[in-house]
Amino acid sequence: MTDSTRAGALATLGGVDVPALAAREGTPLYLYDAAAIDARIAALKAGLAGRRARVCYAVKANSSRAILARIAAAGLGADIVSEGEMRRALAAGFRPEDIVFSGVGKTRTEIQAALEHGVGRFNAESIEELDLLDALAAARGVSAAVALRVNPDVDARTHAKISTGKAENKFGIALDQARAIFRDAARWTALRIDGLHAHIGSQLLTLDPIREAVARMAAFGRELQGAGTVLRSIDVGGGLGVCYRAGHDHPPALEDYLAAVFGAFEGFDGELVFEPGRWLMAEAGILLARVVRVKRGDTRRFLVLDAAMNDLIRPSLYEAWHDIVPLVPANRPLREYDVVGPVCETGDTFAQGRVLPEVEADELVAICGAGAYGMSMASTYNSRQLPAEVLLERGGYYLIRRRQSWEEMTAGESLLQERRTT
Ligand SMILES: *Cc1c(COP(=O)(O)O)cnc(C)c1O
Repeated sequence: MTDSTRAGALATLGGVDVPALAAREGTPLYLYDAAAIDARIAALKAGLAGRRARVCYAVKANSSRAILARIAAAGLGADIVSEGEMRRALAAGFRPEDIVFSGVGKTRTEIQAALEHGVGRFNAESIEELDLLDALAAARGVSAAVALRVNPDVDARTHAKISTGKAENKFGIALDQARAIFRDAARWTALRIDGLHAHIGSQLLTLDPIREAVARMAAFGRELQGAGTVLRSIDVGGGLGVCYRAGHDHPPALEDYLAAVFGAFEGFDGELVFEPGRWLMAEAGILLARVVRVKRGDTRRFLVLDAAMNDLIRPSLYEAWHDIVPLVPANRPLREYDVVGPVCETGDTFAQGRVLPEVEADELVAICGAGAYGMSMASTYNSRQLPAEVLLERGGYYLIRRRQSWEEMTAGESLLQERRTT
């Protein structure tokens, strides 16, 4: 697709007049294309048809209420990493038994809340967590289903900050220790430790690390079963990559990814669990921004947007590339820009030296691939309002989150009203 046809497609995303939408709802604005989300859900379902498998959407990728409700209504489960995500997931209609609880730092309060609501499975990451979970489940008189998150010590070959499956990462349990836990599983009387879990990292653009990880998990699973352990589920995590840079990123096809996983677990009679986040949402969303001004510096030309790192932090945090498409008429000459936000940080840069069709102040640009880890990572840094979100569907749109008001931004803060002592 050429830049101008892409700009044309984005200007009518979801059959909606996007410039008119921007004029009405303001910018920065997150737009999600419902058809694109539905298409990914449908592809996953088709790929898993006839298999003993379930999908638990990684809520942290995009936890907006209407998005979660749509995914829940499609029959998927949820992968959560905090009590807040649990509350969002339950409110959005996920059944508690379809929720898996991951994370290296589940607190006592969070575990108690999850037990109280009947969350389906805990992906446990340490012996210390097993001890606490066991005590809390016993105190409630319930039995908790547990999968051990193992650390397969595989290099995901992705950005270091989103790589989670190497021995030096904080995540998971080394296989030796996991082996000992399964051997002594009877020790935790209120737990049913009958699952394996791994998640080696995110935005994986090749299948090799996945293949290595599932091969190690499968071998370990067979070993455990050989020693008499009952394995009801094997959860392979998320991580499937997406295309952030057209013509450059070539993520594995879903079918190939699924074939690699199914191939490794041939003959396994339990349930396979998938936890995609990014893959379901990233390419369905854009962050729409307006150009505040074009600043011509000594050596560089800066495109200063009204969106910033507080709205979309991936470029600052991971040096992530996002395609940027100005919604301008075709035939503009090309120029090189540093695309930046207004926040007082040099890191508030969406792109450096990006060649784009010439853009003027007040024109719109779409930052693509913003449907995952965009809004869910947004903050109010520099006291900027959280952006609004819309879901585009069949030529219309739903405002699924209004722009944060000034009152909301400072709600909960107070002056020195009441002095307390401990
Ligand atoms: C973040 C996360 C996921 C989702 O990862 P994606 O790369 O977005 O698919 C899945 N499982 C766990 C445990 C995670 O922490």
